[in-house]
Amino acid sequence: MADISYKLKTIHNKILAASAVRSLEDQCIQPHLIAVSKHQPIEAIITAYEVGQRHFGENYINELSKKANSNKILEKCLDIKWHLIGHVQTNNINKLLKVPNLDVIETVNSEKIAIALNNAWEKFRKIENSKLKIMIQVNTSKELAKSGCDINNVSSVVKYILDKCPCLQFLGLMTIGKFGYDLSKGPNPDFLTLKKCKDKICDELSIHPRHVKLSMGMSADFEHAIEIGSSYIRVGTAIFGERPATTTN
Ligand SMILES: *Cc1c(COP(=O)(O)O)cnc(C)c1O
Repeated sequence: MADISYKLKTIHNKILAASAVRSLEDQCIQPHLIAVSKHQPIEAIITAYEVGQRHFGENYINELSKKANSNKILEKCLDIKWHLIGHVQTNNINKLLKVPNLDVIETVNSEKIAIALNNAWEKFRKIENSKLKIMIQVNTSKELAKSGCDINNVSSVVKYILDKCPCLQFLGLMTIGKFGYDLSKGPNPDFLTLKKCKDKICDELSIHPRHVKLSMGMSADFEHAIEIGSSYIRVGTAIFGERPATTTN
C-alpha cells in the first residue's frame, strides 16, 4: 500500500514532464489523473485518497455503487470524485445516478442514453438546477466490439445534448482505442482521431476548444496522450499494480 503513494508521486512527475512538451495551444490544458480502481479493494482507494488523489474511475455500475456507498469511503473520502468509464445502459441509470459523489459519466454514446440521463437527473439531483457532467465516448478505432459513438455522429450527438438536454453539461470526448498500439510507429492514431473530432465539433458548433476536454491515455501511454492534448488520463495498473481477479461483479 505504501507503494501506491510512491507510484502516484512518480506518475505526477511524469505528468509534469509530459505537460512541458505540449504544443503551445495545449499549454493551457491542466491534465487530471483519474485513478482507475476497478477490481481494486476499498483500502487501496483510501490509501490513494489520503495522499491527495481525488478522481477515481470505475467501469461497472454495480461495483461503483457498492464502493461509493461503503461506510469507509463515505467516512474517509468526503471529497472523492467518481468517474464512470464503463458502459451505461438505460436499465441501470437509476442505480448510477444514486451514486454519492458521482462526478462525470465519460461513456455516453448515443442520443438515447443522453436523453435518458437528462430526464433521470432532473429527478435524482439533490442540488437544484445542478447539471450532470458527461462526456461522449467515441469509437475511434472503429472496432465493432468497442462501444462508443461512431466518429461521423459525434457532432450531431453533441448538438443534441446542447439543444435538448438542459440537465447535462457536455465536458468533452473520451476514447479507449486499440489495445497494445506500438508507440514506436508514431503518434497513436486513436488519440489523433479524438483530437480531430474535437476540432470538428468546435468548428461546426462554434464551441471554444478550451471547453472541450479529452479523456485518453492509460498506464502504458498516458505521457504520450498528454503530449497530444489529453485532459483526463485514466491510469489503473501503474498506480495499483495488476488487478486482482475478482468476483465482485
Ligand atoms: C481499465 C481501464 C483503464 C485503466 O487501464 P490501465 O491499463 O490499468 O491503466 C482506463 N480506461 C478504461 C476505460 C479502462 O477500462
